[in-house]
Amino acid sequence: MEIKEYDVVVIGGGAAGLMAAGTAAVGGKRVLLLEKMEKTGRKVRISGKGRCNLTNVCSDEEFFAKIQNGAGFLNFAYTQFTNRALIRFMERKGVKLTTERGGRVFPTSGKAWDIAQALVDWCREESVMVECNAKVEALNVIAGKVRSVSYTNARGYLRKVETPAVILATGGASYPATGSTGDGYKIAHSVGHTIVPVRPSLVPLETSYEEAKFMAGLLLKNVQVELLVDGEVVQSEFGEMLFSKRGVEGAVVLRVSRKAVDALIDEKRVELNIDLKHAMTHDELRERILREIAEQPATLTVGELLRKIMPRELVVPMAKAIGAHAKHSVGELKEDKVERLTSALKSFRIPISDYRPFEEAIVTAGGVELSEINPHTLESLKVKGLYFAGEVMDIDANTGGYNLQIAFSTGRLAGQLKTQN
Ligand SMILES: Cc1cc2nc3c(=O)[nH]c(=O)nc-3n(C[C@H](O)[C@H](O)[C@H](O)COP(=O)(O)OP(=O)(O)OC[C@H]3O[C@@H](n4cnc5c(N)ncnc54)[C@H](O)[C@@H]3O)c2cc1C
Repeated sequence: MEIKEYDVVVIGGGAAGLMAAGTAAVGGKRVLLLEKMEKTGRKVRISGKGRCNLTNVCSDEEFFAKIQNGAGFLNFAYTQFTNRALIRFMERKGVKLTTERGGRVFPTSGKAWDIAQALVDWCREESVMVECNAKVEALNVIAGKVRSVSYTNARGYLRKVETPAVILATGGASYPATGSTGDGYKIAHSVGHTIVPVRPSLVPLETSYEEAKFMAGLLLKNVQVELLVDGEVVQSEFGEMLFSKRGVEGAVVLRVSRKAVDALIDEKRVELNIDLKHAMTHDELRERILREIAEQPATLTVGELLRKIMPRELVVPMAKAIGAHAKHSVGELKEDKVERLTSALKSFRIPISDYRPFEEAIVTAGGVELSEINPHTLESLKVKGLYFAGEVMDIDANTGGYNLQIAFSTGRLAGQLKTQN
């Protein structure tokens, strides 16, 4: 077993690990970055549908409002390296950026690859030693201090590297094909850290709604969606959602998924209440339906009427919901059925029965317990010389560039290897 020495070993070459490694090297440290995949930054390279929404130009208040867990903890790391600082950093590295709808920032090239490459090139310029196909197996701690790291190298040999400092940046458990398979939780737990139970977040949901299987592929735009838990509205979101073979996905669904997942774990009743006609009030919609009926009371069928006001896939479910037959004449639709149709369009409820697995989740909720980490340094309060960065911690945010900003801000702070007594 060969023994080498470094000032710091960074475990995991994702957004947080690359930022931490480069920062430590700029600070004059001899840095070894161990990445278990054949290449660093796999998740960054597929992020934002291959375009990488690396941050958001929102205000600090808005940023913290988007953090689902850990906003207070993150305050120091974020204010030390904000969205403005990240944008300046990337631009100095030669990556041109563009701000899109909702303040989301992307590389102008439209290539997530450019973000990953800028970080990799920076690490190389700063002489970070990057070893890929290197899977960390254990963190060795003696007398409460980091002593060494054991890993399996590309040839399958176990190696040991001595170091007084380790930055654990192994990511979460979501999209495991990118390398984030939850190893960091085992490593942190093995040296005494508590792991808040992990669960998928920003994840598609499943529904037991019978008709949903006929609606696969239906994209609803500009809908207002309420998440109901045990009948109470707990979140409201506006945007688009998509019916899939198993359930629902799309921006709005992802945004409500975190609360939905936790409610499902707690065995609560979870439903989505969809306002399909957000632009119209209840009365305006009823008037519109009555007008359509009045124009062709004898010739128009219920199905044809519904087709005029909603997508084809919703016609049968809506007809069923109001107890009408799609082939019958609209003349049969009396006041009460028109009222029921209006209500069904303004409040289309579907039960949520489950959530999709980590393989389909954008982020992981849960992770290393924050009260065991110093928020001003990101050093462990249990093991001297152990630092954390990125998604491995119990921090997660909504969609919009916030999760990568968290990885970069915490990577930056951890890489400074500050200590506080
Ligand atoms: C499909 C998808 C799209 C996304 N799009 C966006 C987006 O546009 N904007 C946004 O803000 N967020 C996005 N996210 C979330 C964001 O990518 C993550 O929150 C972020 O990458 C987390 O960074 P990280 O460095 O903490 O972890 P990761 O990027 O997961 O990196 C962890 C690294 O550690 C390595 N590793 C793990 N275990 C070991 C071990 N034992 N030894 C050595 N190495 C190990 C892994 O191989 C991996 O390379 C997206 C996520 C997914 C899955």
